[in-house]
Amino acid sequence: MTDPGAERILIVEDQPEFAELLRLWIDRHGWQTLVASDGWEALRVFEAQGADLVVLDIGLPGPDGWEIIERIRAVSQVPVLMVTALGAEADRIRGLQAGADDYMNKPVSFPELIARIQAALRRARARTPGADDPGILMRGAVHIHPRSHRVLVQGIEIHLTPTEFRLLHHLAEHPGELMGHRELLQAVWGPAYGEETQLLRVTMRNLRAKLASAAPERRFIATEYGLGYRFTEA
Ligand code: CA
Repeated sequence: MTDPGAERILIVEDQPEFAELLRLWIDRHGWQTLVASDGWEALRVFEAQGADLVVLDIGLPGPDGWEIIERIRAVSQVPVLMVTALGAEADRIRGLQAGADDYMNKPVSFPELIARIQAALRRARARTPGADDPGILMRGAVHIHPRSHRVLVQGIEIHLTPTEFRLLHHLAEHPGELMGHRELLQAVWGPAYGEETQLLRVTMRNLRAKLASAAPERRFIATEYGLGYRFTEA
């Protein structure tokens, strides 16, 4: 039963049996599904019909997952959930750096996939302009504009992915406080998260690199080893 107003999920997967399983699980939870079985089709479908979320395989005939993320990120901040081979840590890091919001290992746990899709869509909705406007957050040299999703560091704009934006925003909302790994994962990625410290670490590394690109001499986020992070600007 698909509600015509339901969010649309583009599944990019070249293994037909796995693509069909993904489609069945996603469809059963009430979302609309679009399936692309190679990189060309994925880009064509995304361009023609758009999507509210993309479930993306990396190894594909034609343009691979890396190229697809890059092409999508050039025009859209749609959540991208990457599916990678188990143990391919370098792939996961590369995917997050390219702008994926989350990743899952194969073999995929379908209930977990559904929870992650729900969480990613919730995050995307929360940053829809007008959805909520807590106002500009000014923390020393860091100015965060939730409504327009912009961040200025010493007056220089930096471009963050939706996940990096939420991470920065959550830390900056609690200046000086130690924020634990689990707390940050749940606040930024969603309540189904808690153990994915690698996800947090890589996203934090990207966020810091972007902050440093505008203010190389400053350090806005301190690491408390084994515990979490602290936003140091008041
Ligand atoms: Ca594949």
